[in-house]
Amino acid sequence: MTERLYFADAKLLEFTGRVTEILPRGDRWVVVLDRTAFYPTGGGQPHDTGRLGRARVIEVLEDEASGRILHLVEDRPDFSVGDMVTGRIDRERRWDHMQQHTGQHILSQAFLRAAGAETKSFHLGARTATIDLDIHRPEATLIREAEELANQIVFEDRPVNIHQVPRNELDTWPIRRDTYHGDVIRVVEISDFDYSPCGGTHAARTGEVGLIAIRGWERVKKMCRVEFVCGRRALYDYRAANEAAKAVALTLSTARDEIPERVAQLIEDNKHQRRRIRELFNVAATVEAAHLLQMAESRSGYRLVKHIFRDRSMDEVRILAEKLCERGGVIALLGLDDHGAARLLFARSSDLDIHMGERMKEATGAFGGRGGGKPDMAQGGIPKIEQLSACLDRVAAEV
Ligand SMILES: [Zn+2]
Repeated sequence: MTERLYFADAKLLEFTGRVTEILPRGDRWVVVLDRTAFYPTGGGQPHDTGRLGRARVIEVLEDEASGRILHLVEDRPDFSVGDMVTGRIDRERRWDHMQQHTGQHILSQAFLRAAGAETKSFHLGARTATIDLDIHRPEATLIREAEELANQIVFEDRPVNIHQVPRNELDTWPIRRDTYHGDVIRVVEISDFDYSPCGGTHAARTGEVGLIAIRGWERVKKMCRVEFVCGRRALYDYRAANEAAKAVALTLSTARDEIPERVAQLIEDNKHQRRRIRELFNVAATVEAAHLLQMAESRSGYRLVKHIFRDRSMDEVRILAEKLCERGGVIALLGLDDHGAARLLFARSSDLDIHMGERMKEATGAFGGRGGGKPDMAQGGIPKIEQLSACLDRVAAEV
């Protein structure tokens, strides 16, 4: 069983221990000491990294059966079993984990008080941390209330106390979580606020946690998953959000805090312009249809319009077809070079008796494509753009 120095002092970043085992594992080595300050992955908190002697510690695991802590090192150890070795823990990573983890204790209690919502699980990720709350659809005001309360506890800089509580005395404590094991339970107290059984590393005072900021929340598995950042992560997240907002503000030639109003205005302007474009296109289509009809081929009983468009949308071609056919006695065989894709639209006036859907199916089929539609209007496409003209000619020869 390895003695865990981080239980007594979470800020101990350098220590010495005696090497009890060195075992090869793949191209790595597992080192076991009689005592260690390295935290192993567990309780939602990732492991520490650092060095044992000169060897780099890349992972730390707990062997639950034996209570040993296994340090996975990537370099061949420059020490042997029986030697005393110096361990050094990466400070920034440990501090980051302490801030997020202690922040989680505070936030979980804050949600319990603000919303009666229990924390069901905790995950500390590389960029943000999450807790899952047993609450369905929280109001935004409730989330803000919990965030306010959590930060109030931080600003009060309360001490964080560790208690060793015998199991049979535990029910006299106002414990938040009910998962624990062992005869003596390690209870982490956020002074006069939260009591939670936990084996992790924590800040000594709530002020060390720094800002607790909720980034967002979503429904996951009938629970509410709250994403948050504490301390230095909150600073970096604020910085990134501020830089992004400032960049947008610069593009919009406005102040950062006026972005929402400005964007809403732009969306409104855009809607108005699209409506205006549709109106103007309708006018242009009337003129264009008249021009196409002038150039149409006169046949017995009807006029044939055959034309290929480029750089148009299919919607525009459809509106043109409707304009061409509205006066009676017109068959329109239209092609569209849609950025290299060969698309077709056939239409006819309501006074003619010919099934455009069947013509479309037959014509596109003959060129390896697909299409069909109603008797008066049909759409389709063929694979080869260079055959678009030939396809129209084929139908023109048959109608
Ligand atoms: Zn904890």
